Amino acid sequence: MRLFACDNCDQVVHFDNRQCVRCNHRLGFLPDDLLMRSLEPRDGDFWQLTANPQRALRFCGNAGLDICNWLVGPDDDHEFCIACRHNRLVPNIDTQEGIDRWRRISQAQRHLFYSLLRWHLPPPDRFQDPQGGLVFDFLEDEVQFDGHVIPAITGHDEGVIAIRAAEADDLTRELARASMNEPYRTLLGHFRHEVGHFVWNKAVRDRNEFEGFRAVFGDERQDYGIALQNHYQNGAPLGWQQNFISAYATAHPWEDFAECFAHYLHIVDTLETARGFGIAIDPRGHGEMASEVDFDPYRAADAEQLVSAWVPLSVAINAIQRSMGQPDSYPFVLSNAVVTKLEYLHRLIQDRVANPQQAAA
Ligand SMILES: [Zn+2]
Ligand SMILES: [Zn+2]
Ligand SMILES: [Zn+2]
Repeated sequence: MRLFACDNCDQVVHFDNRQCVRCNHRLGFLPDDLLMRSLEPRDGDFWQLTANPQRALRFCGNAGLDICNWLVGPDDDHEFCIACRHNRLVPNIDTQEGIDRWRRISQAQRHLFYSLLRWHLPPPDRFQDPQGGLVFDFLEDEVQFDGHVIPAITGHDEGVIAIRAAEADDLTRELARASMNEPYRTLLGHFRHEVGHFVWNKAVRDRNEFEGFRAVFGDERQDYGIALQNHYQNGAPLGWQQNFISAYATAHPWEDFAECFAHYLHIVDTLETARGFGIAIDPRGHGEMASEVDFDPYRAADAEQLVSAWVPLSVAINAIQRSMGQPDSYPFVLSNAVVTKLEYLHRLIQDRVANPQQAAA
């Protein structure tokens, strides 16, 4: 994520800020130019850019409950911003906890969309693609009469991404993480993983790119249901770290692809943050671990360039986390086989960046 500045007073501002702490201007994120903009009130629901008062804008329909800080152009018919317009079922807002949960979910969702927009790859919604456009259902758990909770299931099915809303609660998410023996579980990770399934449908399946995919990830025609059942019964095969980014990636080639897609986004986005802050790694006496992000990670030459910058940086971030008594922020190892998979994803994404007219996702 880029580091932003208030375009009225040059104060540093962040992606989720609502107001400038120095000049007090209201701030909104303008998806058209991917920048935080300072605003002044205009008539009705409209605001205008401080830097360009001719330009009228309004906030996303979800700004009312302070769920979203993105802006919508005056000619746009949609009530919601380019991210929120994909929402179909939203969390329950009858309680403050529900509103807080949705705020955290929405924040992670807009972070995902930021990356997709950085590649100029906005996913189609259901107006543009009624069958396979991307929609989100944020599902509440079902509480039975006796108080028994049936958890909602996070997953993807033909463009519908379901996210279990309760995972916006730290306690619920941490319980799920520990019980499934996962080293990492976040809302943002869920969004990046699930959209990976959507990208597979659009960029591999619908374009008949099976040969290249199978050469790297294996044959996805094995029965998915049985494969998942096997995984939950028997766990990952011994030595999986040689070939997979996570234990879950071993379950089925679809899951491997989605896991690698999530990691590609983790790496690219975190490198952009490091670049925004000018963070470089140069451990004394260990020049081989030096790293500086002197390129735009969203336009990297290849995955190798990303990985060379990422490994020393992630080692340093993990060490800093340990100094704070926190778990590693990136508890993963990038084996050569995984780098090959990231290289495949890199080509897939950059081909679509170069040929936007062919890109459906
Ligand atoms: Zn300011
Ligand atoms: Zn919005
Ligand atoms: Zn999955």
